[in-house]
Amino acid sequence: MNLQDFIRSIPDFPKKGIIFKDITTLLKDPEAFNTAADMLYNFAKNLGVQKVAGIESRGFVFGSLLAQRLKAGFVPIRKPKKLPAQVYSASYTLEYGEDTLEMHQDAILKGEKVLLHDDLLATGGTAQAACSLIEKAGGKIVQVSFLIELAFLNGREKLKGYDVVSVMRYE
Ligand code: 5GP
Repeated sequence: MNLQDFIRSIPDFPKKGIIFKDITTLLKDPEAFNTAADMLYNFAKNLGVQKVAGIESRGFVFGSLLAQRLKAGFVPIRKPKKLPAQVYSASYTLEYGEDTLEMHQDAILKGEKVLLHDDLLATGGTAQAACSLIEKAGGKIVQVSFLIELAFLNGREKLKGYDVVSVMRYE
């Protein structure tokens, strides 16, 4: 099965000039959904992951699946003003704009092994900001995983030093 066949490309979304990779066409197919989840699990299964942090909102889908399969806890990293308790914040530049991410200060304990997951790696700014939040809490990032990597945008450069893995790469 070629998982890329299940990704739909939408031109000019959410802005002109962007070709958006739509993952909902993969999620709705039971076999493709399962295959992708298995691959993400296999990347991480021997790392002793204690917490999986997922980035709002598409990172929550596989992030929570992964947490359950790895017998780890799940931590949501969210857009501003969504989390009710005390948060750490980090701002970053996105492929299309600027934004801030937040994480509860007590979500991760010092020294815990953390896997960060998001649906897609583009320029790497989002994942880099999320990494800084996890490290502010004292977490040790053991893997950063994505469903899709847009390799031509060199997002990996911003994540140097981390174990970066992806299910699908677009060159
Ligand atoms: P970056 O910060 O790496 O430039 O952008 C990655 C973030 O933007 C991820 O949270 C991802 O969900 C979102 N994103 C950017 N482009 C796309 C895209 O083409 N498809 C999807 N599904 N998400 C995207």
